[in-house]
Amino acid sequence: MTDRSATMAAGSAPATADAHRRPLLEVKDLRVHFPTEDGLVKAVDGLDFTVAKGRTLGIVGESGSGKSVTSLAILGLHKRTRAQLSGEVLLDGVDIIGAAEETVRRLRGNKMAMIFQDPLSSMHPYYTVGAQIIEAYRVHNNVSKRAARARAIEMLSLVGIPQPDRRVDDYPHQFSGGMRQRAMIAMGMSCNPGLLIADEPTTALDVTVQAQILELMKKLQREFDSALIIITHDLCVVAEVADDILVMYAGRAVEHGPVADLFRRPEHPYTWGLLSSMPRLDRVREDRLRPIKGTPPSLINPPPGCRFHPRCPYAQRLGEICWTVEPELLEGPNDHSTRCHLGPVKAREVFVAEVEPLL
Ligand code: SF4
Repeated sequence: MTDRSATMAAGSAPATADAHRRPLLEVKDLRVHFPTEDGLVKAVDGLDFTVAKGRTLGIVGESGSGKSVTSLAILGLHKRTRAQLSGEVLLDGVDIIGAAEETVRRLRGNKMAMIFQDPLSSMHPYYTVGAQIIEAYRVHNNVSKRAARARAIEMLSLVGIPQPDRRVDDYPHQFSGGMRQRAMIAMGMSCNPGLLIADEPTTALDVTVQAQILELMKKLQREFDSALIIITHDLCVVAEVADDILVMYAGRAVEHGPVADLFRRPEHPYTWGLLSSMPRLDRVREDRLRPIKGTPPSLINPPPGCRFHPRCPYAQRLGEICWTVEPELLEGPNDHSTRCHLGPVKAREVFVAEVEPLL
């Protein structure tokens, strides 16, 4: 574990009683498959997790791991003519997968909202920032334009936009990247949704602004007592804000647990690879980044056995079982689950002896 990740994980919210509050979101055996000419792309292939109010879940993985497809399924944004969805996504008891489109539309924005990676392409360039927040607010609230404008100014002030009563009439291109992201957050939070999903919310921002946006999201989450899901490829981001981490690989969860425990005792070789790829300020440049070798597998014909085996440095050591039998996601102590034939004891030995000294 790096000094940085250790400090950050230690600084995250502890697993307190609210970890066991009734989940606001329950995802059960979620599958999202896309029929294509080449075959069925199993982008998400049996995913289970929950998020309670006041908690933050970080979903981590490389592109193609299924994390963004999962967030779109939660928001009910997959076209049902293109995607085959099964399982359950229960938001406050309402199943998004089985619900009518009108019901899902009402929930979106009102009970759940999304912040995208690139606010410039998510905000309409022809309308002022204020007009877009007002529109989003009035879709779900029967209020006058005047009241909605007051709400827009209040939200812009809450997210730290200076002179909000003046900037409300600016266009998106008149905002800096960080301010646009703040405005997107203001728009997302304007209806006080119980669930906020942020997809790579800080990727396009420089490090200082990134830290400010993450801090802002944490602050608003506390104030609104919302459940937050952060989708990212960057473990530094989840270490900064998440209470729990779900690591995804090839459409499945491979490791899941409280952030402090998962950073202290990571058990899956893929998670070790992600940790090894984290930048370190105390290493010379050529030693700093050690990306995981190989590329993510085909989601039409995933590898037999463990889906990670073609890239796993420990597969040869365990032998045949890794390429013939798919491991189950097994829960250990501290709500920490891992999908690997090493098992928690052997994984700990390997991590301490071979992986940790190199992090
Ligand atoms: Fe590696 Fe085998 Fe564990 Fe898969 S099951 S991650 S191949 S050791």
